[in-house]
Amino acid sequence: MIAALTEREVEMLQAAQTLRDGIDSGELHLIPQQPDETDDTGSTGVEGRLLRRWALFRERDPKLRRLKIQKVQRSGRPLQCEVCSFNFADTYGSLGEDYIEVHHVTPLHISGTRETKLDDLACLCANCHRMCHRSRSGESWRTPEALRAMIRRSTPDTPHAASASAS
Ligand SMILES: [Zn+2]
Ligand SMILES: [Zn+2]
Repeated sequence: MIAALTEREVEMLQAAQTLRDGIDSGELHLIPQQPDETDDTGSTGVEGRLLRRWALFRERDPKLRRLKIQKVQRSGRPLQCEVCSFNFADTYGSLGEDYIEVHHVTPLHISGTRETKLDDLACLCANCHRMCHRSRSGESWRTPEALRAMIRRSTPDTPHAASASAS
């Protein structure tokens, strides 16, 4: 309990420092508000919204995105979600070819401002990406690995197709 509180405090101090860096560099002011930023729980503070905006802005760096996608393709692995294996091309045909969302595994307020390496990035589908960033009380983000564990826990043993045909 105390350890968790201390950890939270460290996280908040790091977040504050990251925000100061962003304001000092002017980078934060250049980022437009995201249309989906209003939190449905109303519990997300200003810092949370700013940090999320900044993280998403960084993730949209076209060069990083391209390099990450190229790295996966050169490795011979399919370009698919690292959490749920969703493959845009399989579902949307040529429209989804070469498409994936690129996500910072560790958010900026933990890693601090630093140069992003390709290994810091994960390929995610749009749904899993949102779920990694979604905040809820006491929890502001989760890694793709943690999200994968949550999916396994909540998926019933019987496949969806079987329960759908039974109803
Ligand atoms: Zn996914
Ligand atoms: Zn992300």
